[in-house]
Amino acid sequence: MDGKWQEVKIIGIIEENINTRRFFFEFTELEQFNFRAGQFIKLKINDDIVRAYSIASTIPGIKRLELLVVLKKDGAGTPILFEKAKIGDKFLISKALGNFVLPKNPLSDLESEVCFIATGSGIAPFRGMISELLASKYMGTVNLLFGTRTMEDLLYRDKFDALDYAQPNFHYIPILSQEKRESWQGKTGRVHAVIQSIYKVHRPCDFYICGRSKMVLEAKAHLLQMGYDNNHIHTENYG
Ligand SMILES: Cc1cc2nc3c(=O)[nH]c(=O)nc-3n(C[C@H](O)[C@H](O)[C@H](O)COP(=O)(O)OP(=O)(O)OC[C@H]3O[C@@H](n4cnc5c(N)ncnc54)[C@H](O)[C@@H]3O)c2cc1C
Repeated sequence: MDGKWQEVKIIGIIEENINTRRFFFEFTELEQFNFRAGQFIKLKINDDIVRAYSIASTIPGIKRLELLVVLKKDGAGTPILFEKAKIGDKFLISKALGNFVLPKNPLSDLESEVCFIATGSGIAPFRGMISELLASKYMGTVNLLFGTRTMEDLLYRDKFDALDYAQPNFHYIPILSQEKRESWQGKTGRVHAVIQSIYKVHRPCDFYICGRSKMVLEAKAHLLQMGYDNNHIHTENYG
């Protein structure tokens, strides 16, 4: 096997919603997969198709790995994962890549507030990053703004709700753009409007933004306009 690639097999698949699945992999040879929360891997879907996926796991250094994949119906790779991949199937995975990570010393190197902003599958790297940040005993406010369409699209809702309940400084703020049902009591509309209302009184904050290119670039442009410094706006762009 090419030394750059490690073999994994699928050990679990959970349907999160109609077009999103959590894939659980186990390394067949590697005993410990090391990564920093926020990094991504490359997955060889077949001989011709390699795609990047953020690591959605929360525990580094074990034999297992979780990815959160959204089906792109007219895409080349994800239809193969959704229609053909099953438990026991083997794939090749790269080492952990990328610099979309928290500083090594969050207590001294982050501002007194951190805001994570995601849409769609862009929530994936934030599971690990938020776990790492809260485990570091960071005491500042940590906001997670998650923009998606309807209640069914709220990925990892139970996990973030539970964390919000357990951690006084963590606030889970889902924002639904197309939810009309009265049972939804949370925020609606666009993520950018919520960012503007929460941060209209300017205060020091590090922003981590992840998702599709249009949202990431727009959110960053808004924050720059609002007077935030480029050095405190960290982005991961899914293209
Ligand atoms: C660093 C990085 C991390 C990524 N992490 C994730 C992840 O955790 N989960 C995930 O589902 N995707 C992630 N992606 C996107 C992923 O690599 C693929 O582009 C995506 O799965 C579509 O692949 P495809 O072969 O089916 O479609 P393709 O044939 O490659 O592309 C078809 C179209 O799909 C668009 N597209 C790309 N990503 C998405 C998406 N997430 N939702 C809707 N449309 C999309 C592309 O802009 C393109 O126009 C990441 C991309 C990068 C660069």
